Amino acid sequence: MTAVTARVPAKVNLQLSVGPPRADGYHDLVTVFHAVSLFDEVTVAPAERDTVVVTGEGDGSVPLDGSNLALRAVTALVDTLGPGCRDAPGVSIEIKKRIPVAAGLAGGSADAAAALAACNELWGAGLSPQELRDVASQVGSDVAFALLGGTAIGLGRGDQVTPALATGTYHWVLAFAAAELSTAAVYAACDRLRASRGGRPGKPGEARRPARPGQVEPPQLDTALMTALRSGDPAELGPLLTNDLQPAALSLLPDLRRGLTAGREHGALGAVVSGSGPTCAFLARDARHARDLAVALAGAGVCRTVATVVGPAPGATIIGVAAEKS
Ligand code: ATP
Repeated sequence: MTAVTARVPAKVNLQLSVGPPRADGYHDLVTVFHAVSLFDEVTVAPAERDTVVVTGEGDGSVPLDGSNLALRAVTALVDTLGPGCRDAPGVSIEIKKRIPVAAGLAGGSADAAAALAACNELWGAGLSPQELRDVASQVGSDVAFALLGGTAIGLGRGDQVTPALATGTYHWVLAFAAAELSTAAVYAACDRLRASRGGRPGKPGEARRPARPGQVEPPQLDTALMTALRSGDPAELGPLLTNDLQPAALSLLPDLRRGLTAGREHGALGAVVSGSGPTCAFLARDARHARDLAVALAGAGVCRTVATVVGPAPGATIIGVAAEKS
């Protein structure tokens, strides 16, 4: 085999509930991931040394050294399989990006998942989906979900994933911001907001507030959201979208509020910041409504650009295998 290509989706979070900071600095999460049809493609091939090339959306802000998440995933896979797993000293990784960088859509994690799936195939390693997810957890919180795709519940740091019972196809508009948001900065802002506010949990989308000052309630799966997902009815799902990180993202980029308001005014069934932001996700009634909503949001000048996508989308999938010429 000379090259393997995997396609991998972006995600939005239908629920993102954040617990208090843990001793290791991470936060325990209860999240419902939903993969959407905005895909990066990652091609891996044997090479003399490890290299990364990135083209497409946001390519200038993606690192090409050992900190690139796709390369980190390859290194973690080699550590798991042992150095004899590959028949060349290195691997070339070519990433075609359509998922914006640092946008709350887990694009870097997606590339890591695609690299794991592609190298598993390239090297004939034969790791099972669960074994690959175990490697994924070492690389980042969202990587296991990018392998799985669909709609799934994420626990722990988000890396313990289980498929959710969900029916139907959901039509979304994603509004991309001009700015990037660092995930670490948004979590830090969330902790600061909670420490300063105190009191009970707020309305959906407001920061989860401590029951007593300094104490944050453990996150819980929203059973109403799970019921809505089983119904397949976007009108049921829309009002139940929540994100504990939204107030923090809005505190760092207050202009995002204008986009959320504009989406609701144009009939979005739900409007929420995706993950740590700044991308905002708007749930539409159907494909036609999604197109109208996208045009309205683009026209309102509240974002850099928009995309219409559907979910759930499949996780990292091998889409090309180039065989060696004999
Ligand atoms: P999160 O998974 O925390 O929600 P995000 O979706 O907000 O992340 P990413 O696009 O994953 O953001 O990028 C986060 C950071 O990771 C970027 O600032 C970038 O420097 C770094 N990074 C490393 N590898 C990659 C990659 N392959 N693609 C994009 N970003 C990468």
